[in-house]
Amino acid sequence: MSLVVLKDIRKSFKLDEEEVEILHGINLSVAKGEFLAMMGPSGSGKSTTMNLLGCLDKPSSGEYWLDGQDTASLAPEALAGIRNRKIGFVFQGFNLLPKTSALENVELPLLYAGVPQKERRERAIEALALMGLSNRLYHEPAQLSGGQQQRVAIARGIVNKAPLLMADEPTGNLDSKTSDEIMNLFVKLNREMGITIILVTHELDVAAYANRLVHFRDGRIMNDERSNQP
Ligand code: ADP
Ligand code: MG
Repeated sequence: MSLVVLKDIRKSFKLDEEEVEILHGINLSVAKGEFLAMMGPSGSGKSTTMNLLGCLDKPSSGEYWLDGQDTASLAPEALAGIRNRKIGFVFQGFNLLPKTSALENVELPLLYAGVPQKERRERAIEALALMGLSNRLYHEPAQLSGGQQQRVAIARGIVNKAPLLMADEPTGNLDSKTSDEIMNLFVKLNREMGITIILVTHELDVAAYANRLVHFRDGRIMNDERSNQP
């Protein structure tokens, strides 16, 4: 079953009083359990597509079905609720709150979701343990390395137990050894926990961890290929 279905998605932005179409009809279905990497030149529409997939923005036309629900039919509050339950996010710049412990950073999405304090703490500790950070619970971002900060951010991305994890250039600020460590964690989440992953990267060796590669060019999908790894 498809977790994500995009049907003929178009997206325009207003630039100098003029509507400019950026996405020219994107069709994409992502099945549960897939690990998909998006590649393509700068400006080709990857982040715009990610923002639509993450329900952070709405398409100008076309349909977006998320876990069997037509997102266009949902009121803003319902859409925010779906986003909290169905999607976790990881960003290039980690986006952690400064002067805030790893534990509290990871608890944040659960706070928004109204999860009681005791359960928030338990689940955050569990997610950080999964990322190998049990000994860093009370560290603040500034006291952690880049790789450790990204692991905190991934823990925050999975703590709501959402079926979909989205990451825009998650290794963009990391050296290649740390980047490999982070990618191995994504693979583990995908294989062992069945989390569907969609990530953007411009590095081929990062994309090689995925089992499907989608190439963007000028607001269109030019190529969509599955690798033969399991
Ligand atoms: P990529 O992530 O592949 O580098 P983007 O999706 O960020 O590409 O951008 C695709 C195009 O859309 C670019 O030309 C960019 O300038 C334009 N664009 C993106 N967001 C906006 C916006 N909010 N307003 C106007 N133009 C935008
Ligand atoms: Mg981008």
